[in-house]
Amino acid sequence: MSTIHILEERQRQIYQKGKQPFDMICDKVSIAGSVSQRACVFCGSRVVLYPIADALHLVHGPIGCAAYTWDIRGALSSGPQLHRLSFSTDLTETDVIFGGETKLYKALTQLIDEHNPKAAFVYSTCIVGLIGDDVTSVCKKVAKEKGIPVLPVHSEGFKGTKKDGYKAACDALFELIGKGPVDHISPYSINILGEFNIGGEAWIIRDYYERMGIEVVSVMTGDGRVDDAGKSHGAKLNVVQCSGSMTHLALAMEKKYKIPFIRVSYFGIEDMAQALYDTAAHFKENPAIMKNTRELVREEISGMYPQLKKYRTDLEGKKAAIYVGGAFKAFSLIKALKHLGMTTVLVGSQTGSKDDYEILRQMCDEGTVIVDDANPVELSKYLIEKDADLFIGGVKERPIAYKLGVGFCDHNHERKIPLAGFVGMLNFAKEVHATVTSPVWQLTPRRERSY
Ligand code: SF4
Repeated sequence: MSTIHILEERQRQIYQKGKQPFDMICDKVSIAGSVSQRACVFCGSRVVLYPIADALHLVHGPIGCAAYTWDIRGALSSGPQLHRLSFSTDLTETDVIFGGETKLYKALTQLIDEHNPKAAFVYSTCIVGLIGDDVTSVCKKVAKEKGIPVLPVHSEGFKGTKKDGYKAACDALFELIGKGPVDHISPYSINILGEFNIGGEAWIIRDYYERMGIEVVSVMTGDGRVDDAGKSHGAKLNVVQCSGSMTHLALAMEKKYKIPFIRVSYFGIEDMAQALYDTAAHFKENPAIMKNTRELVREEISGMYPQLKKYRTDLEGKKAAIYVGGAFKAFSLIKALKHLGMTTVLVGSQTGSKDDYEILRQMCDEGTVIVDDANPVELSKYLIEKDADLFIGGVKERPIAYKLGVGFCDHNHERKIPLAGFVGMLNFAKEVHATVTSPVWQLTPRRERSY
């Protein structure tokens, strides 16, 4: 274990509670050679926008970038499935020399004719930024010819962190807002921002709000529709779930349309209940909403609690590691793990801010390691050192866990089951229980020899 070293330049992005003064740095580009777990700017914008199911998503760049496609994040749609098709202009050497604008124009017009989308998003990738294609002009021209919004997403992979991709996506999305009718929208209405309908989560949350007596005007972007986004300026409140990705849009809507916003999380019992109570509190002129909310929360929790207690019996005292995209999700996960009797020994995120890490510091026990923009070596080091029983992460963390013989729970893109809402908490507990108590880990080298 002592042979696993941390790069000198990375030392201040790692903090161990109780061992050193809290002086973490974050919000910086990844260090070359560190092999960051982070995705690029383009990926950040793609994950936010692609759940808009009736839009065309065209990746302007070499074919490799299009690997970030629907199936890295299985956002479900109740209607159109156009978002599941991945289109690329497949730029090659000739295009790099002579420019890719003609190819982009041809691809866009052909695809719009074939698929009849409500809008089109064109994602600029690294090479487009380097050769300087005027993507905005091509989009404007096609929008005029075809009569639909054609929006450039300035998401060249090299120009920042994944967070810049979220911002580019919000900028494009903002262009859709304000175009639809708002006269029939209820005074008790919301938009849900930053809920991507992985495993049908947006449907669960929408159902809760409707039972409370609240109209959901749009979900941006889970099971998203262009027309819903168009009329979203008629909602009375924005409820932001993934604050890392969508706060930029919420702020822009607050400024232009005077719509206030609250930040919530739909993961875990407390945060789910708090999200509903906070939303209900916004509509206090209608006391029936708060009454409905109390009944809903009571009903949902009483239905799942006995089962949760059974899982806790086996999981009490087990140790968990968390590495996720945004730190806000980590807050909820720590609380959810506490419900299962588990402690968090390692927690990190790709895009956390200084304030986020301060909150994590306050939430965690002595000895917990907090890490910003980690790499596989660092994660492996602390999984071994802290003797974790469970690793919660996404597609890039799964092989790290399995290679080390540690149970794994996917809380990210490619999972198929909902983990949000009260029912999601039960699914989460079931997953965690299944992996942590699996007998297979007793056969792995980690349990057989000491490192
Ligand atoms: S870093 Fe650049 S080349 Fe790589 S996937 Fe992202 S946009 Fe494409």
